[in-house]
Amino acid sequence: MKIRSPIVSVLGHVDHGKTTLLDFIRGGAMAQKEAGGITQHIGGTEIPMEVIETICGNLLTKLDIRETMPGLFFIDTPGHEAFTTLRKRGGALADLAILIVDIKEGFKPQTYEALNILKTFRTPFVVAATKIDKIYGWETNKGLSFIQTYNKQAPSVQEQLDTGVYELVGVLHDEGFESERFDRVENFARQISIIPISAKTGEGIPELLTMLMGLAQQYLKEQLQLEADAPAKGTILEVKEEKGLGVTVDAVIYDGILKKNDTIILTSLDDIITTKIRSILKPRPLEEMRDSKKRFQKVNEVVAAAGIKIVAPKIENVVSGSPLRVARGNSEGVKEEVLGEIESIKIDTDEMGVIVKADTLGSLEALVSMLKDMEVPIRAADIGDVSRRDVVDASIVQKDNPEYGVIISFNNKILPSAVSEISSTGVKLFHADVIYQLTEDYAEWVAAAEERKKKEWIDAIIRPAKIRIIPKLVFRISKPAIAGIEVLGGTVKKDYILINSDGHKVGKVESMQDKGENKPSTSKGQQVAMAIKDAVIGKDFEEGDVLYADIPENHYKILESELKSKLSEDELQILDELVEIKRKEDDLYGLRVEY
Ligand code: GDP
Repeated sequence: MKIRSPIVSVLGHVDHGKTTLLDFIRGGAMAQKEAGGITQHIGGTEIPMEVIETICGNLLTKLDIRETMPGLFFIDTPGHEAFTTLRKRGGALADLAILIVDIKEGFKPQTYEALNILKTFRTPFVVAATKIDKIYGWETNKGLSFIQTYNKQAPSVQEQLDTGVYELVGVLHDEGFESERFDRVENFARQISIIPISAKTGEGIPELLTMLMGLAQQYLKEQLQLEADAPAKGTILEVKEEKGLGVTVDAVIYDGILKKNDTIILTSLDDIITTKIRSILKPRPLEEMRDSKKRFQKVNEVVAAAGIKIVAPKIENVVSGSPLRVARGNSEGVKEEVLGEIESIKIDTDEMGVIVKADTLGSLEALVSMLKDMEVPIRAADIGDVSRRDVVDASIVQKDNPEYGVIISFNNKILPSAVSEISSTGVKLFHADVIYQLTEDYAEWVAAAEERKKKEWIDAIIRPAKIRIIPKLVFRISKPAIAGIEVLGGTVKKDYILINSDGHKVGKVESMQDKGENKPSTSKGQQVAMAIKDAVIGKDFEEGDVLYADIPENHYKILESELKSKLSEDELQILDELVEIKRKEDDLYGLRVEY
């Protein structure tokens, strides 16, 4: 069994230095150190083991994986978008990741997004705390290991660095990861290593590469095993028109061998494509490129890990991030496997649940996985822009279950027909280009809706209220009785049943008016003209009488058990009086009592 190079991705917030780190690793300083050792692929760069050993020196000697592993394969496109697009069955295409954080700026939105995605795909990673050369007072020691350069710094500089590292440890802890500066890590299986680096001066790069090798040794030994003559498996980077070549696809091969004339299975948005390779192309080595107009050279075969360009018919509509499989012999089985892989991510049901749309298979997989972690049911999940059909689908759910009758869309367009359908149905659309923002927004919206529902429920509970019929202000004796009243305590609302101080029902609040205006409720201290249905003044009660809002037994129980802390002093007082009235009536809310 051979071992292939692990595929490594660099993630982090914009301007924190992803490109600078990749440039450093790819070219510049390193290539000078060990000229010619670095292989350029399509979409990636491979740093061979000899180069890594030269850079890392004796840091690596403890790792036995260095004897079998050919090197490290860095994906050239940094960032979490490329990371999610470049997926493979069961996870990310990248075997390892570097999460880069500017040591002075700390975590930013895209750092959180990247961390969430790494969590979702369960990708082993290290944290590179970068731009240490910008720490005030830092003395640069180009290309030295972190420990060597750290030991040469003034104590106040070391302190600033340690503060930065510990802030990262704190944030990572809040996000559910234990971490430590790499040289203080006690348990590599449980703690994430933080390596302070400068992508400008190369300080700390030896440890960064060593820690990546350590992760590979710890987690990837099986994953990296290569059956060298097995049919290739890969992921499509992009479809590209090339001058003189026509339409080509760029792909990263992560397993097996790809040969000229192989039959390959690819996918478009809605179809499986079977085609035959015409040529496999690799970038020409730098020194040859100078004399040749052609940027690529043809090869007969490549073994994983490799980044190549393929020329073949029928590949115009292949999707970025979709699988590539070589079929030797029985292509039906491979086709089914590819179809199964796509179908395992897409969801199409008639169940109650949200509608999920995303721009690529990988981002759809990440979004679906995060929603599943939140136990949000999903009715449908697919790639592509938000269409009228999606809105209609969500509106069907909305009728029965408003919480799930929504569309959650990542990095897509909203088609005009969908926009008009949204405005007519009122379907809620969550739309963003940060995945965790979407899931957080949705969770917040659900919580707010629940809060509203709870408030409505609380508002529907009849609360204690007490009124007095103001003497000499009777406007009508009956049908309905109308009199001026004053609220002595609590709030009286329309439709409340009124009882007198003997507990007898006297009527129902039909309406309340103040200066000709209808009022749905009246609170302590206010006076209104109240129409009381079914009451006859002089028979059911007199001018000057005190009346209470009757509280049904089930409402009383809720008041007692759940809302007591929310009642005001006067409401509590009235409730006591009401209990006293009910006690006299021998009817303490259904409970027998001894006097
Ligand atoms: P990206 O958006 O994450 O790819 O960030 P870039 O690699 O483009 O870096 C953003 C800026 O930070 C550029 O001006 C870089 O020169 C600078 N930069 C990146 N890494 C370092 C570093 O380690 N030290 C210093 N001093 N500057 C850096």
